[in-house]
Amino acid sequence: METPAFLDRDRPDVPDLVIPGGITPFHLDGRPVRGRLVRLGVLADTLLTRHDNPAPVSCLAGKALALVAALSSALKFDGSFSLQVKGDGPVSMLVADCTSTGALRFYARIDAEALDTLLAANPTPTDHELLGNGYLALTVDQGPDMERHQGIVDIAGDDLAAMAMHYFATSEQHACWLMLTCAMTDTGWQAGGLVLERIAGEGGVDPVGTADANAEWETATILAMTLTARELFDDSLSSPQLLHRLFHEQDLHVGQARALAFGCRCSRARLVDMLSTFPDDDLDHMSQDNGTIVMTCEFCNKDFHFQRKDVAASA
Ligand SMILES: [Zn+2]
Repeated sequence: METPAFLDRDRPDVPDLVIPGGITPFHLDGRPVRGRLVRLGVLADTLLTRHDNPAPVSCLAGKALALVAALSSALKFDGSFSLQVKGDGPVSMLVADCTSTGALRFYARIDAEALDTLLAANPTPTDHELLGNGYLALTVDQGPDMERHQGIVDIAGDDLAAMAMHYFATSEQHACWLMLTCAMTDTGWQAGGLVLERIAGEGGVDPVGTADANAEWETATILAMTLTARELFDDSLSSPQLLHRLFHEQDLHVGQARALAFGCRCSRARLVDMLSTFPDDDLDHMSQDNGTIVMTCEFCNKDFHFQRKDVAASA
């Protein structure tokens, strides 16, 4: 059994931050629509400012965090749900994941020279210009004993929401509408989003595909499009209030809110286990003159220091 995070003294010194109402699920009664409203609150700033990324990259990463929070919370699983985007742009790799308990993390791999060139020519690039051409993968990982579920599509669309909708249009059965937003505000970075999914009704009796169901889906997406980033980032508006503004005439039912948290799973013990799988020669090579091996967790941007003499190769 795994040690709960709060008891694990081997974890790095990173914030223990929980946003209780980070995800608010809802459905529209009698209509083929369910969804989730995601608001990262102060978590966005805490996660994004751990990395020294230029603003457009932080903005992209914030949307990626909102996306994995929104999508993972619709699934029944025990493990992690991840987004990985790999392209030939200045952000060559973007990874964001969310566990079934709502723990979020991300990292972006950047070609600094290519990014400088892009930003000099265009200070507000699209997500596609940052990522380039490549692919987007969504993966549900439930541990080594369970089969991994992964879907992959080409990068298509200007922004991350369009890329994710392209994913759903090509690899999933149901229609999906998404809005993702991230911006620097007076109180730091904010990020959030809204996802709508078209579903069959209770017991499969809903006539999905009929003119009525099509019209109801369309109405819901049109209402959803009226949500602004300003509203989403407004702390004085609760999530149920925000949803009520959008869907008060659509028999809105708001479900039990779910928490989001700062969540890297790195620990000294895990890194030592990993180091011990390297041969002695490699460990000697990794070791600095003072006999220290430094390992950096890319997700929480934290250095771990080990003494070479304390790490024994298992080989
Ligand atoms: Zn970490």
